[in-house]
Amino acid sequence: MDVILIRFGEISLKGANRGKFENALKDNIRAFLKKEGISFFGVRSSSGRIFIDKPSTLPDLSRVLGIVSYSPAWEFVDLEEVKEFLAAREELFSKASSFRITASRADKSYPLTSPQIEREVGEVVFEKFKTPVNLKNPEINVGVEYIEGSFYVYFEKIPGWGGLPVGISGKLVVLISGGIDSPVAAFLMMKRGARLILVHFRKSPYVDKIPELHKILSSYAVGVEPELIILDLKKISSFYKIMTEEPLTHRYMCVLCKNMMLKVAEKIALKKGALGIVTGDSLAQVASQTLENLAAQRYGVKLPVYSPLIGMDKVDIIDIAKKIGTYEPSIKHREEPCPLHRHPTTTADLNKFLALREKVIKKLGYIPWEKF
Ligand code: ATP
Ligand code: MG
Repeated sequence: MDVILIRFGEISLKGANRGKFENALKDNIRAFLKKEGISFFGVRSSSGRIFIDKPSTLPDLSRVLGIVSYSPAWEFVDLEEVKEFLAAREELFSKASSFRITASRADKSYPLTSPQIEREVGEVVFEKFKTPVNLKNPEINVGVEYIEGSFYVYFEKIPGWGGLPVGISGKLVVLISGGIDSPVAAFLMMKRGARLILVHFRKSPYVDKIPELHKILSSYAVGVEPELIILDLKKISSFYKIMTEEPLTHRYMCVLCKNMMLKVAEKIALKKGALGIVTGDSLAQVASQTLENLAAQRYGVKLPVYSPLIGMDKVDIIDIAKKIGTYEPSIKHREEPCPLHRHPTTTADLNKFLALREKVIKKLGYIPWEKF
């Protein structure tokens, strides 16, 4: 392997955005290679591709978000060299049941068209090894790409996660619990280019999975790792202790608590220059996530709240959690029953919620989320 050829792709990428995208992706790739201890000659972009020149080994680049696919490739100065290289791959072609050549040209000034390149190169392989050509479903699909005066040849396309490089979309605060959902929500927003600040309200006794989840999410954002802020959930419950004589309070604790988490997240976001808040809410998945409750919880939160899982089914969320590696740590430790979560209402009434919140503020004499 001479190079790793990397494909990225958002159809909307044009002009200045494209340069920004490429530079961010190259920076993230360099940071990732350094962390993995992989030496390389350079990382460059050319004609809509990124190249890692002379890498010491093939890394798992699916960890770098923004990459659609990548191929270990060999570089040649002309088509004759390509033919010689393929004609010497006896171990590959003599055992294969079929093959095809798939050519493309980034630079259309090359005198041969892509189908002509495919035919010329394919003929050499067929003459030498008599391996049948199968255009629809070949065992070996040989990629031949002509890019800025060089030919690149590869035999596999390894899929990445696609999306955008972490960091290019700006900052978001994520409310992260130890559950299955919020780490997936965090991942999906990172995949859209957001740099994250993870905020967790710790229940006691404290379990170690938040640092573990933070570590897994960080592995997809080398060089642009999420910040982790751990706060005490007890502080929230202590604000509501004064309300225990109120008949409705118990049933509204959960909604009040989520509202407070969002207000604290908003405060952190404003301080740190983040432009929104992310939660793992999924419509009607649990009692706290009915439309009534979500409307009450979010009342008075001025920054936008993004919930990428809102319309997803649990099985699909679990599927992503398993793929990214957060599922095991999320289910490993059984969650403490939440101290505020006794028979929560599923149909929070906005006026009742606001009246309760007012009462808390009045009795305390200050606004509780400002105490964080
Ligand atoms: P998750 O699987 O993410 O825990 P869930 O389905 O258990 O979600 P809830 O417990 O109602 O649902 O939480 C809804 C959202 O509120 C979470 O996805 C997360 O964004 C936020 N949240 C809940 N608990 C905490 C916490 N202790 N610290 C920070 N955020 C939290
Ligand atoms: Mg939860």
